[in-house]
Amino acid sequence: MRWLGAAAGLAAIVTFYRAVVNANPTTVALTLLLFILFLAARWGLRYAIITSFAAGACYNFFFLPPIGHFTISDPQNVLALIVFLVTSVGASRMSNRIRQESMDARARQAELEVLYRLGRALLQTDELAHLTNSIPASVAIASGAKAVLFYLLDGDRVYLAGDWPVQLSSAELKELSHNPGIVSSASAQETMVPLRTGVRPRGVLIIRGTTLSHQSLDALGGLISISLDRASAVDEVTRAEAAKESERLRGLMLDSIAHELRTPLTSIKASVTTLLSSDLRPEVAHDLLTVIDEESDRLNRLVAQAVEMAQLDTQEVRMSFSPQQLSGLIDVALETYKTTLAGHPVTLSLSPNLPQVDADPVWIQKLLGNLLENAAKYSPAGAPIFVSADDRGTLIACSVADRGAGIDPMEQSLIFDKFYRARNRALHTPGTGMGLAICRAIAEAHGGAISVTSQPGNGSVFTFTLPRHTAP
Ligand code: ADP
Repeated sequence: MRWLGAAAGLAAIVTFYRAVVNANPTTVALTLLLFILFLAARWGLRYAIITSFAAGACYNFFFLPPIGHFTISDPQNVLALIVFLVTSVGASRMSNRIRQESMDARARQAELEVLYRLGRALLQTDELAHLTNSIPASVAIASGAKAVLFYLLDGDRVYLAGDWPVQLSSAELKELSHNPGIVSSASAQETMVPLRTGVRPRGVLIIRGTTLSHQSLDALGGLISISLDRASAVDEVTRAEAAKESERLRGLMLDSIAHELRTPLTSIKASVTTLLSSDLRPEVAHDLLTVIDEESDRLNRLVAQAVEMAQLDTQEVRMSFSPQQLSGLIDVALETYKTTLAGHPVTLSLSPNLPQVDADPVWIQKLLGNLLENAAKYSPAGAPIFVSADDRGTLIACSVADRGAGIDPMEQSLIFDKFYRARNRALHTPGTGMGLAICRAIAEAHGGAISVTSQPGNGSVFTFTLPRHTAP
């Protein structure tokens, strides 16, 4: 088709200058040169050079005297024809070189774009498992390949994207992973890119139907190896940090529980020893039994708290949410904790027409109980406690406020962490630092949140939110 096009173009120029416009030979030569340059730029050197000779012949035959013959009478015209041929061939070569360079630049740009797209896709995840799963698809999308097979020596795993008609055995894939460089299959349909960390083979990437150059495939392999190294390093750091954190928490838990267990156990042991060893008056014996009763309750609460926290931590808790009236939940909590709150006047102020919330009543009782207990524990005897609730649109907020010593601003965000106890009070008030961590886990499991505002010396306000119940 192109040859026909070149011949037609040449014929059109000759006919135009022979039959339509009577131009001088220089104009004709320049027009032919222009046409040849166009061919060189669009279709390449082959077409331009052959057409140059054909154009030279036509120029001689139709435009140089004697017209209609291939002989040239004037030696000047011989020179003109030679100059025409040399110029057209030379210019064609230059024009073709520019065309080739621009094509190379475009191909390089396209390959760089492929690498950039792949780099971006690979950077999107730090998780090793997710990364290895996504590599074949990312390579296929970025490079436009028909199918991609990614084999990892570590664990002998294969990941695929696209249709793979052939099944490669583990031994074959292992052998391909040890190839020193990129290899193309005999049919050139598949390209095997070995992946390595330093000099250590790591696996192989087989790409079906790619047009990428070997340099780009080499860079692509390097990019994948680096991203695998990066994800492994992040994975290791995360695992080490998680292990360290779990070790730290275990230590804190042991410290906190051991300390808190010892006090009630000591009281119980002392009371029991006294009861057993002497003949006591009934009132004294009753007092000692009351101590035992209270301290066993304390032990019971402590163990329950530790179990609750462990359950919330491992997400073993199954909460069952149902529409609840917050005022009802508050009333039950106040009743349950009335002994703890004894001596603290409690003021209740609820917004009128409070909508129902979606909540698990058992866990909300625990949350309210912890806040009420803290309010009583961290404020002087007789200090008032205020419980309020108000409607905040999609969430309903409930607050427990006290007039206690308050919390240092620096510590306000820390007190919800497990086992954290405010520095100045930890020495005087018994506690484990688990209560508020449990409260936060409960509020978050409900889709709400918990926060504190406090001014040292003026008391604290703990507020938690719960989602408003909406009709299904
Ligand atoms: P615990 O009371 O067992 O120490 P919590 O998790 O309930 O554990 O509380 C963590 C810390 O927050 C407490 O040690 C205390 O310093 C501080 N805190 C909690 N509630 C109050 C409050 N109402 N007023 C002052 N400080 C409080």
